[in-house]
Amino acid sequence: MKRHLLSALTLGLLAGVCGFANAADKAPAGKAASGIAVEYIDPSVRAQDDFFVHTNGKWLATTEIPADKSSWGAFHKLHEDTQPQLRKIIEDAAASAKDADQQRIGDFYASFMDEARVEQLGVAPIKDKLAKIAAIGDKKALPQLFAEFNRYGVTAPINLTIHQDNKDSTKYVVDFFQDGLGLPDRDYYLKKDDAKLAEALAKYEIHVAKMLTLAGDANAAANAKAIVAFETEIAKIQWSKVELRDPVKAYNKYDIAKVGELMPAFDWNAYLAATGVQGKATYVIVSQPTYFQALDKVLADTPLESLKAYAQWQVIHDAAPYLSKAFVDENFAFYGTTLSGATENRPRWKRAVSSTEGALGEAIGKVYVQQHFPAEYKARMEVLVKNLLTAFRQSINTLDWMTPATKKEAQTKLAKFTTKIGYPNKWRDYSALTVKRDDLLGNVQRASEFNYNKEMNKLGKPIDRDEWLMTPQTVNAYYNPEMNEIVFPASILQPPFFDPKADDAVNYGAIGGVIGHEISHGFDDQGAQYDGDGNLRDWWSPADHKNFKAKTSQLVAQYGAYSPLPGYQVNGELTLGENIGDNSGLAVAHKAYKLSLKGKKAPVIDGLTGDQRFYMGWAQVWRMKMREPAQIVQIKTDPHAPGQFRANGTMRNQPGFYEAFKVNSGDKMYLPPKERVIIW
Ligand SMILES: [Zn+2]
Repeated sequence: MKRHLLSALTLGLLAGVCGFANAADKAPAGKAASGIAVEYIDPSVRAQDDFFVHTNGKWLATTEIPADKSSWGAFHKLHEDTQPQLRKIIEDAAASAKDADQQRIGDFYASFMDEARVEQLGVAPIKDKLAKIAAIGDKKALPQLFAEFNRYGVTAPINLTIHQDNKDSTKYVVDFFQDGLGLPDRDYYLKKDDAKLAEALAKYEIHVAKMLTLAGDANAAANAKAIVAFETEIAKIQWSKVELRDPVKAYNKYDIAKVGELMPAFDWNAYLAATGVQGKATYVIVSQPTYFQALDKVLADTPLESLKAYAQWQVIHDAAPYLSKAFVDENFAFYGTTLSGATENRPRWKRAVSSTEGALGEAIGKVYVQQHFPAEYKARMEVLVKNLLTAFRQSINTLDWMTPATKKEAQTKLAKFTTKIGYPNKWRDYSALTVKRDDLLGNVQRASEFNYNKEMNKLGKPIDRDEWLMTPQTVNAYYNPEMNEIVFPASILQPPFFDPKADDAVNYGAIGGVIGHEISHGFDDQGAQYDGDGNLRDWWSPADHKNFKAKTSQLVAQYGAYSPLPGYQVNGELTLGENIGDNSGLAVAHKAYKLSLKGKKAPVIDGLTGDQRFYMGWAQVWRMKMREPAQIVQIKTDPHAPGQFRANGTMRNQPGFYEAFKVNSGDKMYLPPKERVIIW
């Protein structure tokens, strides 16, 4: 089962990560630090013309993306800085485990680091699986095979996830959704007029053939062609990333006895039995019914031999990072270099840390927060969140486009928000997970199965409100509409997001903006369709819907006009929810900052006023560089706009920004007041 955060709305996607000094360390004694990295300001570019480059210009001019990264910026730097901390925790566990979880952590890491054994095994760890697929003589075996792939996290045309029922958030439900592609988006298969995507597809076929050859396939070139042809058929019937954002369209409830009617040629009873869903649910959700209906015909029309080749390819692909060097290198050559632009693979220890994290994240997180997350950070965050919620509440009351009745509903929802900061109250129990020091791929697969069982066991049980969807050491944050909760892992509570040594202005602009962003997700074009109990329920009046839609359409057009790369535009519809989050979040954070001043004037620090530091705090969070192939993947798949537009695009809508930097018509950052969109 793939853990997908379709319903959870995150702050940013982490791709890969350069150093920037923490300005706080350089403050003269006795004076509060500004928290602004003033050494990166480029005075030759006016704040009024390009605020992102003004704030980050010297960083942009002097920073190179590290060879093993596809992008690099503040997010990536924080992620990178935690790696040696995690390595130490893991290596300490490997050297002398103090409990069973530490034993698991140490053994998992050791199995990854035992390169000699991995090399000696070669393709052996997947031999049996490949042979089993080769022996299949009938398409009747597909339901069992797909269910097995779901269990071990191998890509299949059908996938499933367990989450709260969107119309009854007190229950867990199983949700089936489209999947099955080896490339990041259906556009890579379908947009033949885009030369870069077409080139990536051609190289993908070569990559598939090389991997099949490594695994001993004598007919690799022909099989690779058939695999790409099959995936292209799947791409044709898939919903676009924009269509996938519609929670009402994706809510399709089926009686468990009737769901098979979507695919008459595919034995759903066998599939439901093999997944373990049978007997645990009376109904299921199918996110994209038209996809499933069409998939039935695609599976029927595709020769069995092609489907077997596809299944073998997915097994090889899934296992590649845990096999011998030849597999690891070819996998990196395509996914790391061709698709992401990195020229070197990450050192083995970093890959081992990531993998151990993937399997035992919370067990590592438990030690991480003891060592690296001071209690006073949590206390300061609690105050910030409280102030942001107060500002949001006040802001709702002042909206000129919303009727009083809908405002009341919005307040009710806001009052029901739950906040989680730092780390979970209750840690995950790993006692059912077996880890062996000499079996890397087996460890990875057992961890997948362990997660799968954990999810499956939720069916029929009460909602676990203590659960976290991210580990404490994740540099990110999220809003989960079904829980109506905002969550801030420990790792994001560091500079430049949160600087306990800095003056308030920068903290309100950075982590305050992040908090505002997550709160706003509860009221973006997706989140606003859920009520305070996490149920899809329309609590809006028709007039409010109309006004909201008019504003969001303006935002779609605004961001759709931005181009990060010649020939490519930001997708205004795909990024709408995140752009609402940024624009409303920062506006509310600014109100909260003003409240925190309690009528006093903010001091001038580093020659910058409080308001100027506030906005620069936001803009420096988004300093980022990305390689071209990774930028294309981002445009096609990521609901977040590229960093420069998260900085500048947001600024252009903020009334306070115009005042703080005296922005006037004629300046490049200027938007006429009627074109500015804030919403909340
Ligand atoms: Zn977000």
